[in-house]
Amino acid sequence: MTVHVPPDPAADARLLADFAELSAIGATPAGGVERQAATAADGRAREWLAGWLTARGFGVSCDRIGNMFGLHEFVPGAPYVLAGSHLDSQPRGGRFDGAYGVLAAAHAADRLCAYYRDSGASPRFNLGVVNWFNEEGSRFPPSMMGSAVFTGAMPMQQALDTADTAGVTAGEALAAIGGLGDADVFDASRQVGSYAEIHIEQGRELDKAGLPLGLVDATWAANKYQLSVIGAQAHTGATAMADRRDALYGAALVVVATRELADRFGERLHTSCGQLTVYPNSPVVVAREVHLHLDLRSESDELLAEADAVLRRQLAEIEVKADVAIERRFAHTWSGHVYQPEGVRLAEQVTADLGVGSMLVKTRAGHDSTNMKDLVPTVMLFIPSVDGISHAEAEFTRDEDLCTGVDVLTETMARMLEGALAA
Ligand SMILES: [Zn+2]
Repeated sequence: MTVHVPPDPAADARLLADFAELSAIGATPAGGVERQAATAADGRAREWLAGWLTARGFGVSCDRIGNMFGLHEFVPGAPYVLAGSHLDSQPRGGRFDGAYGVLAAAHAADRLCAYYRDSGASPRFNLGVVNWFNEEGSRFPPSMMGSAVFTGAMPMQQALDTADTAGVTAGEALAAIGGLGDADVFDASRQVGSYAEIHIEQGRELDKAGLPLGLVDATWAANKYQLSVIGAQAHTGATAMADRRDALYGAALVVVATRELADRFGERLHTSCGQLTVYPNSPVVVAREVHLHLDLRSESDELLAEADAVLRRQLAEIEVKADVAIERRFAHTWSGHVYQPEGVRLAEQVTADLGVGSMLVKTRAGHDSTNMKDLVPTVMLFIPSVDGISHAEAEFTRDEDLCTGVDVLTETMARMLEGALAA
């Protein structure tokens, strides 16, 4: 098939200039960004995107959980081909994670609008760009919140009521940055027909293979838990050791057990404890309670279930050893899933037609596409992450890979607009 919008050095230059501008918002000294969901910096990034889209003729609006859409209607009443990712970041996060995918979708959409205007050709569907709210889940857990509400996987009110560690809810924080819409942007009258997302790989498979593009065919399964380890507050000096119910000691044993679980299963299981909150966190007080966030992931649902059973037995042993109680406060889990094979085939054909080297990859991280693929046919693309670094300021992807990714996304969306993934 002929390529609708061929690679263009001028478009590449515009993309890189815009990416530099976006990366300056919430920039950290070591080259990353800090734009946690619904903070002032996230608000500035959202304003920047809204300005960019409005200037290019897209209609911009937010839904009730702060997902931002830029829409262009070609065919009144037809479903939308939607593409995007997220502008929020981890604390001291990388500048590519999510933000690249939103900007790539915006540039692809803009190039496609120009193509259809200039060529006189007419697509079958409408075109939308999305910035999903709170994909990272660092300030308001769980991750992928905006897309989960959109697809019905999470109740709207539960998401809005989720509080950060200072007690501010997601709804309050969104209202404070003007990010809260008062209605659903997509409803019975306006619907999404298919979805595309491009993201940095955040692993090293593409980098190792020396290939510029990954076709994501499946996602790893994940079990994420918030645990409370409950002991009793006491004096660090005066209280006899035998009388102590030290919640931090119990939590430390949980952290070690979680790490050793991964050592036991090898590279097929990834585990970590990413957050530890100690109460009262005083130097002279034995902790009464500790909150931990555990994260277990595997390609195999069976292996994950087995690891989970081992961990559960170990938690029971730790309760006895440290004389504490361990409670599960919240769980966010998803099983391993495949992306629609027709989406993978479409992207594969596009890379072949563009002469771009590609390979199949699995995503170990969750993405908004993880939710969207449960709703509509979805294409997920990866570009390389140098040394696989992510959720850190040193995250890096080369300019030429950023540009190639937009070329592939643009052509994939062009074919989706003409019905490639339609029933
Ligand atoms: Zn991301």
